[in-house]
Amino acid sequence: MDKTNLIDKITALCKRRGYIFPGSEIYGGLANTYDYGPAGAELLRNIRNLWWENFVHKRDDVVGLDASVISHQEIWRASGHTTGFADAMVDCKNCKLRMRADHLIEDYFEKHNSVVQEKLQHTDLINTAISKKLLEKFIKNSKVEGASLEQFSEMISIFEMPCPNCGKYDWVLANNNPSVRKFNLLFPVNLGIVEGDQSLAYLRGETAQGMFVNFKNVVDSSRVRLPFGIAQLGKSFRNEITPGNSVFRTLEFEQAELEYFFDPKEENWEKLFNEWKEAMWNFVVKTLGVKKDNLRWREHSNEERSFYSKKTEDLEYKFPFGFKELWGIAYRTDYDLLQHAKFSKKDLSIVDPQTGKKITPHVIEPAVGINRLLLMVLSDSYTEEKDRVVLKLNPRLAPYKVAVFPLLANKPELVKKAEEIYKKLKENFVTTFDGRGNIGKRYFAQDEIGTPFCVTVDFETLEDNAVTVRDRDTMKQERIKIENLTSYLQNKLI
Ligand code: ATP
Repeated sequence: MDKTNLIDKITALCKRRGYIFPGSEIYGGLANTYDYGPAGAELLRNIRNLWWENFVHKRDDVVGLDASVISHQEIWRASGHTTGFADAMVDCKNCKLRMRADHLIEDYFEKHNSVVQEKLQHTDLINTAISKKLLEKFIKNSKVEGASLEQFSEMISIFEMPCPNCGKYDWVLANNNPSVRKFNLLFPVNLGIVEGDQSLAYLRGETAQGMFVNFKNVVDSSRVRLPFGIAQLGKSFRNEITPGNSVFRTLEFEQAELEYFFDPKEENWEKLFNEWKEAMWNFVVKTLGVKKDNLRWREHSNEERSFYSKKTEDLEYKFPFGFKELWGIAYRTDYDLLQHAKFSKKDLSIVDPQTGKKITPHVIEPAVGINRLLLMVLSDSYTEEKDRVVLKLNPRLAPYKVAVFPLLANKPELVKKAEEIYKKLKENFVTTFDGRGNIGKRYFAQDEIGTPFCVTVDFETLEDNAVTVRDRDTMKQERIKIENLTSYLQNKLI
């Protein structure tokens, strides 16, 4: 399959078939926002439900939570987000593009590796904020997380990295070097009619804090015992400035996070960490049906890792624009609970029932975005064949499991029979009906939507009470008696 412009092809299919639309489109659009159409809403729901079923319902040691999106400003002070949750950005003087400095540099290192290596050999780094050793490491990994603003600026200027939009090396300067400034990602909201500090709150930047601030409530109101997890699925908001790449990075997205609390004296954190990694991997490969070859683990270096984390790894997926973070896992120690205890002046420790001693549990956090899982699933299942494009979605994920058509839309007896079958199938499966165009066009459309089975009612149906069932992947057609249709599909869709 020709993979050039794959993300553009997927984006076009998503618009055409009702998966994803640009946000606020009729008003000219709003950057980094998207709306999900009929097929997209179903796919999101399927991914969300599978995550919840897998990580909450099927486990004995995890309970759910649904915390408020609008949250007290102190939560975000305690968590460090009001000061530390910021991206470094640069502005192009020529075309006015504003972009993240880390993305500019990482992309440059990745795409121009030989030029970079060559230049590095002839560059002396004397009196600079970045050492040669660190720069070499950044280049080797094409990862610059943890670099200071000064180091970002130096890297851009050493390699004279041009603006990816207009190709000019003409960044807004400060002290003769590209000016790299911090840009906080939290969305402030003003509550009530009283302006000023009193009414300031934030849209949550991650769901995780909901688990920490409700930790005591959950412990006091349920029968959880360490080790246990609190899981949450819901919207988070970040003032992201990077455009493009569909729903990979948006202002508003749905997070699925789990905080697994444990006593480090009782549990081996490395063992727990590995068990969670396995659970994440299995969910992506077995439950969602994604190809193993498109996945890899990447451990964060000391520079990249948050200071409170003992270990962080990312499960990366090979998106059409390269391997990128899909799902992160971090051992956050007792940092978050201690921070909230300090700021709220509430005791967030729990009493060990065996020893009677107070403990502040440590935590391991697997955190993923549902929308990124959706983009991964779409990328992984997008297939171009000789005469068609097919979304080879795992049937569990497919927005519609079955499509029903009358062979000819202008024959009332066929339409009536097809409607009867459609109504019957709807009792058991998410089913769609298509009476437009000719049969070929309908197959073409359902292949692009990823519907696993198409059922056609033809003139013979009126005689023999059987229909033609077509399999999306093999395109094979079988004649099935209407009375056996539900059980036939049930067996196929397991
Ligand atoms: P990134 O480095 O890509 O910005 P992150 O490390 O800041 O992500 P986390 O804070 O660990 O991400 O969030 C957990 C997960 O939420 C990510 O692995 C990703 O799947 C998802 N996510 C984070 N930011 C966004 C966003 N702006 N749009 C869509 N999904 C996101």
